[in-house]
Amino acid sequence: MSERSVTTYTMWSLFRNCRKAAQWRYVLDLVPLERDRNLAFGSLAHECLEIWHRTRDLAAALDHVDRACANRAQHEEQRKTWHLATAMLRGYAARYATEPFEVVALEKKFEGEIVNPATGAASRSFVLQGKVDGIVRIGNDHFLLEHKTASVLDSSYLERLWTDFQITLYAYYVEQALGIKIAGVLYNVLVKARLQQSAGETEMEFEARRAELIAKSKSGKSSAQRRMPESDADFQARLAEKYAEPAMFHRETLYLSREQFDTLRAELWELTQAYLDARRRGVFYQNTSYCFQYGRPCPYFALCRSGGSTNVIENFYEKVPPHQELAAAETAESVPF
Ligand code: SF4
Repeated sequence: MSERSVTTYTMWSLFRNCRKAAQWRYVLDLVPLERDRNLAFGSLAHECLEIWHRTRDLAAALDHVDRACANRAQHEEQRKTWHLATAMLRGYAARYATEPFEVVALEKKFEGEIVNPATGAASRSFVLQGKVDGIVRIGNDHFLLEHKTASVLDSSYLERLWTDFQITLYAYYVEQALGIKIAGVLYNVLVKARLQQSAGETEMEFEARRAELIAKSKSGKSSAQRRMPESDADFQARLAEKYAEPAMFHRETLYLSREQFDTLRAELWELTQAYLDARRRGVFYQNTSYCFQYGRPCPYFALCRSGGSTNVIENFYEKVPPHQELAAAETAESVPF
């Protein structure tokens, strides 16, 4: 098994969406120097939730946020992350002080064969590895626990959970590897509050506002006070109020169909064959309709636009071994901005 390459669903999904992106990431090992902020926040939230569900110790989870955002006094992005993660965790611990499930495993890794559905033979080139956020038991049924941080939680977000094929496939592999029948997925959705800490007014801004008020006032006077920056404590209080709202957390249970397992396993096999072919020929096609898929440019946009310029690679990318998501959550000590 050690001769074969480790792969993940993330890799196969990227290859399916844009072969060129898979080449940049999984053949050439390139990642952008500047990490996506949403991904960084999502990773931190996952780490904290793992600590919380493992220990039920809110102080330990908050301490993890403090350490991850150790430079928040000087670094504005870290300060924003710290505020959001801290308030979110406090709200979460209050909302789910007791749980309807029993935790069976957390951050559980698995490895399984990728099988040719026509012959039943395992791939000689690849194995699949993955990690699930958790496995929980409700009554006699087991569910995968999947954490999601969302900017907006609406009906279309919940509808889209159905297209989360990764977790369906992982359920199959967890069943094979651990011998636990998985009934479905419990999506644990945490909404990112959009509140901003008020920066207050500069002296000039205040004078301009005051002059305007005076001009409108019959008395020719104004008692307006300069708005001062919002303190960390005041902002946390405002965030705590937000996170006391029921809509900031949501749990959704989806039941898995066995037919979906077969379809996804067959698709996975097809992807391995297409990948081997692309690698053999050294041809990874671009899918330009995917460049702005999530309302922002693909992380490899600069690279594709420059035709793979070495200058762009040297200045904006670094080489990082693939499948970092399989590394232990505890290894991430700081939020890279
Ligand atoms: S920029 Fe577009 S073509 Fe290039 S890797 Fe990304 S999605 Fe593919």
